[in-house]
Amino acid sequence: MIDDSGYTYVHEHLHIDLSLQKGDIDCRLDQYDLIKEELLQLKLRGVLNIVEVTNRFMGRNHHFVEGLASDTGMNILLSTGYYVDGFFPPELHCRSAREICREMVGEIENGIAGSDLKASLIGEIGSSENRFTDIEKKVFEAAAYAHLETGRPISTHQSMSSMGRQQVMWLKQYGVNMNKVTIGHCDLKDNIDDIVWLIEQGCYVQFDTIGKNSYYPDTRRLDMLDVLSDRGYLERVMLSMDITRRSHLKENGGLGFCYLVDAFVPMLRERGISQQEIDTMLKHNPSQLFG
Ligand SMILES: [Zn+2]
Repeated sequence: MIDDSGYTYVHEHLHIDLSLQKGDIDCRLDQYDLIKEELLQLKLRGVLNIVEVTNRFMGRNHHFVEGLASDTGMNILLSTGYYVDGFFPPELHCRSAREICREMVGEIENGIAGSDLKASLIGEIGSSENRFTDIEKKVFEAAAYAHLETGRPISTHQSMSSMGRQQVMWLKQYGVNMNKVTIGHCDLKDNIDDIVWLIEQGCYVQFDTIGKNSYYPDTRRLDMLDVLSDRGYLERVMLSMDITRRSHLKENGGLGFCYLVDAFVPMLRERGISQQEIDTMLKHNPSQLFG
């Protein structure tokens, strides 16, 4: 459940480890005290909820996250699913969508890895850059079944803002209600036409890599949000930073989790985005989607 008296970051990782796959120790985000301190700072700024989208084989660590929740009082939602081709375990190839669905439903209804911590959503499930592989499609099919059985929302990962339309079309054919779907990483290239199309299908879109200026500058993110504001479409937009590396933390020289509220929200205001619209993206929409 989202505490809608405060803001929500909809796509974050509080413990993630892709260091083996990426060959870079920086991709092991696990510095408990630094993350705890940043969460406490976030709470002081009115961010009360984090949607943690780390799933199987990404270094999900529910005990680590449970510790953070109890040490900081941050409300953290956990996820079930599989990420993207290249990060799947080999056995996934020979399992059926129904079998994968059973496992997802188990984590939603019974808890993760024998604990009583339950997954609140299915995510982040992804597609490759400009490619939606067969096994990725199977994970989406499983997610659709798990969603239909539990009603829990689906949060996706696009690689470099590609294949969002294909994700939506694939989920639709299994009867998923687009009001319960959020398409991730829409803000890594100029793709306003795709974003408008996604919104018009009824799903949410995420500007969730805020601050990752080396991929795509925040000024262009603001340009696209401006267009969406003019069209009255911010009621389908949500925000986050997708912090995944040690070097993203403030203490390690990065922007830190507070950048979104401390720097990006003021930039939104300068562009003429109203406080009501900011609350829509950071408060109302996450509460609508995640319940
Ligand atoms: Zn992602």
